[in-house]
Amino acid sequence: MKYKRIVLKISGEALQNKAKGLNHDPDILAMVAAQFKQMLDMGAEIAVVVGGGNIFRGLAGADKGTDRTTGDYMGMLATVINAMAIQNALENEGIQTRVMTAIAMPAIAEPFIRRKAVRHLEKGRVVIFGAGTGNPYFTTDSAAALRASEIGADVLMKATKVDGIYTADPVTDPTATRFEQISYQNALSRQLKVMDAAAFSLCMENDIPIVVFDFFKENGMVEVLAGSDSGTLVTH
Ligand code: UDP
Repeated sequence: MKYKRIVLKISGEALQNKAKGLNHDPDILAMVAAQFKQMLDMGAEIAVVVGGGNIFRGLAGADKGTDRTTGDYMGMLATVINAMAIQNALENEGIQTRVMTAIAMPAIAEPFIRRKAVRHLEKGRVVIFGAGTGNPYFTTDSAAALRASEIGADVLMKATKVDGIYTADPVTDPTATRFEQISYQNALSRQLKVMDAAAFSLCMENDIPIVVFDFFKENGMVEVLAGSDSGTLVTH
């Protein structure tokens, strides 16, 4: 096992099945739970930061007339819905979990308290962070970088639709090639879309390596944990 304490960033869209009109595809949630079980058995400590893009994004709302700040809070609430969906799927598999939110909503989740989060992880519970950073004008990528820094994670695993960072969009450009490894500086100067600059910068300052990997590859997360080089490693 290459990493012990991980923060996994899953976008809201990754949980979605547009063809079936589902915001939360039970098969995808079950796939996550099955891999988490293996990773916990390997001895990993797992924290999750989930996005909200399958339900609401502040910027998209602003385009349609919602005030940006209000829209961002709506987006943060969307991440809490997703956090609860993941919690439910993990509990169905007998995995112990806690949802912790950056905006207090004590009837449904614990407030985020760093020391408590670390204690949960040490006890083998999966901690799911909801409500992003709790602040508008941020993203859940930044929330993932922030939480990874706060809890002293060994890695930030960023799940995407492709198996790493490419020179160009591999979906539209067949000449695009994948980086096995790339520096934070290079990722920043190339303005790579895979994560926002704030998230890259925070990881760079706090020495948190980022692995960008294919969420839909069978056992992809388990392989990253085991040290496979199938994704892209972002480091100094
Ligand atoms: N958001 C926010 N502050 C945060 C995290 C998220 O305001 O710290 C809002 C923002 O409007 C964002 C939405 O929540 O568009 C959903 O998060 P994100 O777009 O990062 O989700 P993803 O694309 O990963 O599904």
